[in-house]
Amino acid sequence: MVVVLLGPPGVGKGTQAVRLVDELSAAHVSTGDLLRAARRDGTELGKIAQGFMDRGELVPDELILDLVKEHLAGIDASTDVMFDGFPRTTDQATGLDGVLEASGRKVDSVVLFEAPDDVLIKRLSGRRSCPDCGAVFNTYFSPPAAEGVCDRCGGALVHRADDEPETVQRRLQVYLDQTAPLIAFYEEHPAMMTSIAADRDVDQIYGEFRSAVTAGDGADS
Ligand code: AMP
Repeated sequence: MVVVLLGPPGVGKGTQAVRLVDELSAAHVSTGDLLRAARRDGTELGKIAQGFMDRGELVPDELILDLVKEHLAGIDASTDVMFDGFPRTTDQATGLDGVLEASGRKVDSVVLFEAPDDVLIKRLSGRRSCPDCGAVFNTYFSPPAAEGVCDRCGGALVHRADDEPETVQRRLQVYLDQTAPLIAFYEEHPAMMTSIAADRDVDQIYGEFRSAVTAGDGADS
């Protein structure tokens, strides 16, 4: 099963994805996390990506598609995959279809998370994430048990530079201009698409998200 999570920055895709991949033993493919790892490792890609990320702009499609291809090659084809923050342009979505087709797979379902801009801004400015395991917390809505420490793995939580106010505005605009057109793309696509209102209780969202993902997969829902 291949699932694409769509939605603006700060909508909570990462929080929900981490929880469901744990439960389903699926692979969580977050291109944002892969790029941050490339930056930390000081790879060529990491160096190129840095400027785009710090400005809140998208990293060029060819680089992202190569990164995803390389990463997927290390994941067994029978493993369920959840893409988070990818694709972000229609060219990336078309590229993903091609990559999956080559291994006899396809995007099975798309989950669109939606929330008003004021909620997104609070979510981003309060966000603290774990660079070690990818878990995400929020100082307003879902604080960790101990300030600055990851509940899941004990790692030190960080506030991302691109969660600063000016960059947040830019990222929301980039979402509207370049990623929101994917909603129409996937409405025309054979994948099943579900929209979830994400400005509600995190457990309520999770229940709907889990049902949407497992509905076509024969798993308990
Ligand atoms: P995220 O953690 O998903 O919000 O991603 C952080 C930043 O990484 C974005 O603002 C982009 O600069 C870059 N990025 C992540 N995923 C992609 C993607 N699929 N395409 C282009 N840029 C991306």
